[in-house]
Amino acid sequence: VSMALSLAACGKAGDDKKSDSSSSSSSGGSKTIGLLLPDSVTARYEKFDKPYFEAKVSSLCADCKVEYANAAGDSAKQAQQVSSMITKGVKVIVISSQDAAAIKSSVQAAVDKGIKVVAYDRLAQGPVSAFVSFDNVKVGELQGQALLDSLGSKATKKSKVVMINGDDADPNAAQFKEGAHKALDGKVDIAYEQSGLWKDTTAAQKVKAAITQLGAKNIAGVYSANDGMAGGIATTLKGAGISGIPLTGQDAELAGIQRIVAGTQSSTVYKAFKPEAEAAATIAVDLLQGKDIASLATSTQTSGSGDKVPSQLLTPVSVTKANIKDTVIADKLYTVADICTAE
Ligand code: BGC
Repeated sequence: VSMALSLAACGKAGDDKKSDSSSSSSSGGSKTIGLLLPDSVTARYEKFDKPYFEAKVSSLCADCKVEYANAAGDSAKQAQQVSSMITKGVKVIVISSQDAAAIKSSVQAAVDKGIKVVAYDRLAQGPVSAFVSFDNVKVGELQGQALLDSLGSKATKKSKVVMINGDDADPNAAQFKEGAHKALDGKVDIAYEQSGLWKDTTAAQKVKAAITQLGAKNIAGVYSANDGMAGGIATTLKGAGISGIPLTGQDAELAGIQRIVAGTQSSTVYKAFKPEAEAAATIAVDLLQGKDIASLATSTQTSGSGDKVPSQLLTPVSVTKANIKDTVIADKLYTVADICTAE
C-alpha cells in the first residue's frame, strides 16, 4: 500500500473533522502564566502552539491562568507586552521573542521582579530559566537534504539554487541557514541568498530579484526557510512560468501540505508543536509552583547574550508527499478532508 497522498486521494476525501481546542483568557494574578508569541502571519502560533499550551496548563493546574499576547511581528510591541504582563503580576513568562537581542532588557526587567522567564522556540537573550525548542540546525539540514533529494541527478555544482532565509532577529534563522549550508555547500551553486524576514511578501520580492538576476530558466531550486515564505515564493515562480523545481519549507502548515500534494512545493519540516507546547507548559507550571526543573533539561544552549540555558530540544521530521500520512495525518494535525478542501 502506497503511503503517498495524491490528488486522486483528495477526490475521495474522508469526512472526519478535527475538533478545535478552545482557548481561555483571563486577567493577571498570582497563578498566571504569560504566553507571548511573535507573529500572527505564521499559522502555527494561534492554530497549534497557543491552544496546546493552554490545554496543558489547565490539565496540570486547575486554577492556573494563561494571559496571551501576540507581538504581530513588532519587537517594540512585544517589549510593551512584557511590561504589561509584569504590571498584571504574572509569575512566569513564556516567550517566543520577535527579536532575541531587543527583548533582553525586558527579560531582565521581569526577572528583577521575581518572574521566571522561559524561552519558547526562539532563544531570547537575558537571564532565562529554560528553553524549549527543536534541534534547529537539524531543521536546516533536513531542508537542505530534501532539496538535494528532489533535485536528484540535477544536484550538481552547476545547479543554481536560490536561498531565502528567515529573519536575522530570530536566532533560529541563523541555525536553519547553518544546517542548510551544511547539506548544500559543495553540492550545488548557491547563486543568490537573502533574508526573507519570515514574510511571504518579502520572500516573493527576493525571489523576483533572483529571477531577474539569474534568469528564470537557470534556477534549479529554491530553499525557503518556512512555509509562510514558500507561499509567496510559489506564487512568484508560477508567475514567472517556472514549474516543477524543488521548493522547501518548514512548519507543515496546511497551505504548505496542500502545495506539496499539488506539486508546487517539494518538502516541509514537521516540528511536532504539541510536545513542544506541552514541554513549555510543564516547565512553566513547575516554575510557578516553585519546583526544580533541572531534570527536564536535556542539554544546555548558549544564547546571544552568553547566558547558558537549560534546554529541551525536540527532533524535527522531513515531510514530502511520501510521508504526509505517516506524519501530520497520523498525529491528527489535519485530516485528509482538511488537506483536500481549499481554505
Ligand atoms: C520558528 C518557525 C516559524 C518562524 C516564523 C521560527 O523561529 O521556529 O517555526 O516558521 O519562526 O515565525
